[in-house]
Amino acid sequence: MTKPDILNELGLRPIINASGTMTTLGASMMVPEAVEAMAAIGPHFVEMGELHKQASRVIAKATDAQAGTVTASTAAGIALAIAACMTGSDLGRIEQLPDITGMKDEVVVQLGHLVDFGHPIDQDIRITGCRVRLIGQATESKIHQLEHALGPNTAAALYVVSHHTARFGMLGLKEFCDACHAQHVPVIVDAASEYDLKKFLADGADLVIYSGHKFLGGPTSGLVAGKKELIRATYLQNHGIGRPMKVGKESICGVMAALEAWGRRDHEAIRAREKAILDLWFDTLSPLTGIEVRISSDPTDNPIERLHVQIDETQTRISAWELASRLAQGPTPVIVRGEYLGSGAFELDPCNQKDGQPEVLLERFKQELETARTQNAGPEESFAEIRRRQAAQLVSWPD
Ligand SMILES: *Cc1c(COP(=O)(O)O)cnc(C)c1O
Repeated sequence: MTKPDILNELGLRPIINASGTMTTLGASMMVPEAVEAMAAIGPHFVEMGELHKQASRVIAKATDAQAGTVTASTAAGIALAIAACMTGSDLGRIEQLPDITGMKDEVVVQLGHLVDFGHPIDQDIRITGCRVRLIGQATESKIHQLEHALGPNTAAALYVVSHHTARFGMLGLKEFCDACHAQHVPVIVDAASEYDLKKFLADGADLVIYSGHKFLGGPTSGLVAGKKELIRATYLQNHGIGRPMKVGKESICGVMAALEAWGRRDHEAIRAREKAILDLWFDTLSPLTGIEVRISSDPTDNPIERLHVQIDETQTRISAWELASRLAQGPTPVIVRGEYLGSGAFELDPCNQKDGQPEVLLERFKQELETARTQNAGPEESFAEIRRRQAAQLVSWPD
């Protein structure tokens, strides 16, 4: 049963999402297979341990791992994977956390990997009771720095694969794993947004974590895959610090269905559709005065291309951030990818466009440019002012 009017009923605006899969926008469009599975399991009682076993099989098959488990989110998966490395399958230790007495209590991570995807990632480490042991500098880390940090107190090492990290100068995953394994330290990879479900385990990771609600189009959830013993210890955190972040039967069934649907999806056809959208955007925007567009590939090699839109505000009379902010207003907000706003550019991501939306986006874009060109809108907010206003808005919720 679908409710086409639910946004209207709730008084929410329909979004044209050209930014990607963002938690603040409700992550992704769930695939129909996931929606059906969630509705189907809803009215039933299930033996949760058995359901989790089925999920383990589905995840193991998709990732070539020994086992897998479903968590409430990637963030939860990171915290529970770290807890697993501290406690093993010892139920006493599992209940003892976040008191770390008698356990290894350091997680090694490269400074350039300390990202913020809605909150600072180090909080996922600290929530277990562990301390963060940083190595390297913001833009560079060296193998001797990793080797120096590893020791008898190291519970795990965390490696982040993401466009948010420092792009250059970081240690490669294979050399990172080799150094950690030489000291018997397990490596946990945060691959929340990565399409390749096998590469990181194949490169040596002991545990890898994916988001269920990004490219997979599942419900809010995380997938942890890897070595059976560590997966078991991750699952057992449901009887410890995992309880406040538990995942329900509906999300487990939903993400299993999404994972299976991902395996059957016609990826070529989807790529072709995205390419057609990019071409349309490129051809329409490139002749506009003060706008310079180019196709940009994904920084972590996911098979996605986006349109990079550079704004020359001396010609457009509107800055990139002001344009992004105006596009996000009105009855059909267009949300662009804001990663490069500070450098006078933004990106348009085709992968979440519903039919008809790429054209509406272009209309809104041209309209806003025309308004900026013909009206004297007065002095603009600076980038810093916009960020301050957004922060003030956040802390005044629910007003
Ligand atoms: C999105 C993201 C997360 C958070 O994923 P959730 O499943 O929403 O918790 C963590 N790490 C990276 C690199 C991400 O991109």
